[in-house]
Amino acid sequence: MNGGEFYAEAEYIQRLLAETQTASDEEIDRILDKAERFEGLTHRDVAVLLNTESENCTQRIFRAARRIKEQIYGERVVLFAPLYISDYCVNNCVYCGFQYGNKTPRRRLSMEELREEVRLLEKMGHKRLALEAGEDPEHCPLSYVLDCIREIYAMKFQRGEIRRVNVNVAAMDTESYRLLKEAQIGTYILFQETYHRPTYELVHPSGPKHNYLWHTGAFDRAMEAGIADVGGGVLFGLYDPRFEVIGLMLHNEHLERKFGVGFHTISMPRLCPAEGAEPSPYAVDDELFLRLAAVVRLAVPYTGMIISTRESAEMRKKLIGTGISQISAGSSVEVGGYSSRANGGQQFELADRREASEIITWLMEEGLIPSFCTACYRKGRVGDRFMALAKSGNIKNVCLPNALFTLKEYGLDYGDERFNTLMNQIIEEKIARIDHEKVKNLVKERLHLLEEGQRDLFI
Ligand code: SAM
Ligand code: SF4
Repeated sequence: MNGGEFYAEAEYIQRLLAETQTASDEEIDRILDKAERFEGLTHRDVAVLLNTESENCTQRIFRAARRIKEQIYGERVVLFAPLYISDYCVNNCVYCGFQYGNKTPRRRLSMEELREEVRLLEKMGHKRLALEAGEDPEHCPLSYVLDCIREIYAMKFQRGEIRRVNVNVAAMDTESYRLLKEAQIGTYILFQETYHRPTYELVHPSGPKHNYLWHTGAFDRAMEAGIADVGGGVLFGLYDPRFEVIGLMLHNEHLERKFGVGFHTISMPRLCPAEGAEPSPYAVDDELFLRLAAVVRLAVPYTGMIISTRESAEMRKKLIGTGISQISAGSSVEVGGYSSRANGGQQFELADRREASEIITWLMEEGLIPSFCTACYRKGRVGDRFMALAKSGNIKNVCLPNALFTLKEYGLDYGDERFNTLMNQIIEEKIARIDHEKVKNLVKERLHLLEEGQRDLFI
């Protein structure tokens, strides 16, 4: 530990991964039983599951992940889109198209351009954004990031508005996190990239991001500054993925111990080709990636799991079945990319390039409920309060209605006739399956209010 902050001890993780290779069948059974009771797993349990290769155990892992997804998250899939505001970057992350050494032209959005991007995102029906930027204190200072957040929240359109801005920007000091909190961000997201310090230092050869301890301590500072929801992740493909998952779990346990609550979300980005990036010797294949996602799902059943358009449509379908609760849709990963006025480079190559509307329809065709809900954070259900509600099992009485309200709102404001026919059919089916009479009546009433023109209803 570093002054009470977190870092992953490589020797400990490697020893654990070696020791757990010989776990007994009884121990494996005990861990899977615990997972099937939705009790979550310790990092040691996770190491055991990452090491077992028996077909029987693999099938139980996937079955349990699917059950957690069905029981806790139901058919809901929350949607968001990234918004790149600046690609200036002083770091040289070897895997990223924005690395300092790449000589592509750089830019940041003017306030006018920002408004245009947000207008286009709103037109797609988005209500939740992830603000993204490279690290450059001169060209993209915190004051600029704060201006963007304020501007986005101030924008109101005829049909809707952005209701939650999550922020994925470089590690910063506690005072800066305080300012982000004051700007009312949703989740503060930061990927560790790799928990393995030697690899971390190798793939971040220069710039402030080179400092491993500054990066691993970021969530401690963010939470000390009062940010209740933090989102972690590693960039799978930089180092041994089993090591990375244990690192994530140790980090989560550290936050739980110190702040009473761990990650609000865990993102599962996998390395994509990017300008100036070399192929990695640690590439994670589809089969292993699905297994990693399933094990994370068992370990932290109440933590949201996010998959972006880095993954193909086919993989996203499988990952949703394995426990993913949030996906991006219609994304651009370049500055100004939504208005196609970009003249710089994109951060990496996307695998799912479908329009947001296609993805939303596809989800419904798969029997899922696209959700644009942003209620928890606006109702103050954040941090440990959110986790307490989630663990009580009552969250579905809140999330399902909110998902249905936001889907209905989307259909009324952005859907065509075909979409609305399918949507109404799905909503009817889901209402019929609500067994709580009071909740069922409330849903029907509010859906009616939406039809009459009211908007932004949530509980
Ligand atoms: N610049 C900040 C940082 O690096 O933390 C924040 C946002 S950066 C735009 C978002 C994330 O994109 C990085 O954390 C990294 O994990 C991911 N990324 C970079 N290059 C990638 C690639 N080639 N494939 C997939 N993800 C990549
Ligand atoms: Fe910059 Fe982030 Fe890309 Fe690294 S990952 S080069 S910090 S934008």
